[in-house]
Amino acid sequence: MNFELTKEQTMTRKMVSDFAEAVIKPRAVEIDKEASFPLDIFEQMGELGILGIPFPEEYGGSGGDTLSYAIAVEEVGRVCGSTGLSFAATVSLGASPIYYFGTKEQKEKFLTPMAEGKALGSFGLTEPNAGSDAGGTKTTAEEDGDDYIINGEKCFITNASFAKTIIVTAVTGKNERGKNIISAIIVPTDAEGLTITSDYDKMGVRGSDTAEIVLDNVRVPKENLLGDPQKGFNQFLYTLDGGRISIASLGLGIAQASLDKALAYAKERKQFGKPISDFQAIQFKLADMAMEVELARNIVYKAAWLKDQDKPFSKEAAYAKLYATETAFRAANQAIQIHGGYGYMREYEVERYLRDAKLLEIGEGTSEVQRMVIARQLGC
Ligand SMILES: Cc1cc2nc3c(=O)[nH]c(=O)nc-3n(C[C@H](O)[C@H](O)[C@H](O)COP(=O)(O)OP(=O)(O)OC[C@H]3O[C@@H](n4cnc5c(N)ncnc54)[C@H](O)[C@@H]3O)c2cc1C
Repeated sequence: MNFELTKEQTMTRKMVSDFAEAVIKPRAVEIDKEASFPLDIFEQMGELGILGIPFPEEYGGSGGDTLSYAIAVEEVGRVCGSTGLSFAATVSLGASPIYYFGTKEQKEKFLTPMAEGKALGSFGLTEPNAGSDAGGTKTTAEEDGDDYIINGEKCFITNASFAKTIIVTAVTGKNERGKNIISAIIVPTDAEGLTITSDYDKMGVRGSDTAEIVLDNVRVPKENLLGDPQKGFNQFLYTLDGGRISIASLGLGIAQASLDKALAYAKERKQFGKPISDFQAIQFKLADMAMEVELARNIVYKAAWLKDQDKPFSKEAAYAKLYATETAFRAANQAIQIHGGYGYMREYEVERYLRDAKLLEIGEGTSEVQRMVIARQLGC
């Protein structure tokens, strides 16, 4: 076994970390407070090639692997959960399905601008009555000549207000057993009949755009159908497996940030005449946090590595998502505790880590859904 990162992976970490420290970190408090989507930061990330890491150069990407991408999300997430979430969503949900299942023409038209960082992408799966049970999709796409006419409603969709395209899941018919066939269709956000509103007032990841979408007789050419129409459901399960690695990476970044802040504060803060890091109660918290961060990193990187080796990675992606995001929440909670009353104040940032981490236990499959995925893999 070899736990060393490659030269490219190490360089990616340094490049993204330098950018995150210099450009994103100083803005993180304001992004959260104002709940403002940092479009200019995404433009800079695009110019640096960060938004195209896992895509081949022929489609405008940087030709990196999943592990490099996971490391990049970790580094962005370490300084700003909002930016990290929108980064993970545009790459894993907005662009990757086109890379996995798109035709050459679709890749050239839709993937290339995203990989080059000139456009953002979005993935509309969740509906008001179809969350964990995504198979309960009610949105429909009916054939009409060379087009599909799409009607329905999507909720909680990341990046939609700033995206050029949304990959929308919709029922396109019934199979021989009478079950709904769910397909994925690329919908340009300037299509007539599409309304995108972003009025949610969120607990965390406040600078990440989250939108509601109404599709009212939206006409899209049939050539925008993504992949095999009969396999739309399996395609989005595969997409979510990949996406879970990036949400896990984001959790890892927040957990690392919580540990870093808590350790620095514990060494500095004096009570009873000594630094609080001298107290065993505080040391044990830090020891547990450090161990969990290391374990989370191991499973996140393993899941990414398996994907890069074209080996099955669904179970490990669920392990990684579940463990890293719950680690992030625990670590952020302990970081607040170690900061005492100061930790409860916005300027110390650890309370933001907790609010941001909470979303990670919900989005792209809740913790309960991850446990269901794992149990199914165990043959239950
Ligand atoms: C900020 C944010 C960004 C998001 N971004 C996107 C996006 O870009 N694209 C997108 O499509 N969606 C997105 N989502 C939606 C997200 O994926 C869903 O919220 C999530 O899948 C849960 O669905 P739900 O909210 O309907 O909860 P529900 O499915 O109603 O779940 C409610 C509770 O019941 C539990 N539960 C449900 N079924 C079971 C079961 N069988 N066994 C045990 N427990 C169960 C759940 O775990 C949860 O605790 C986003 C959500 C948020 C909050």
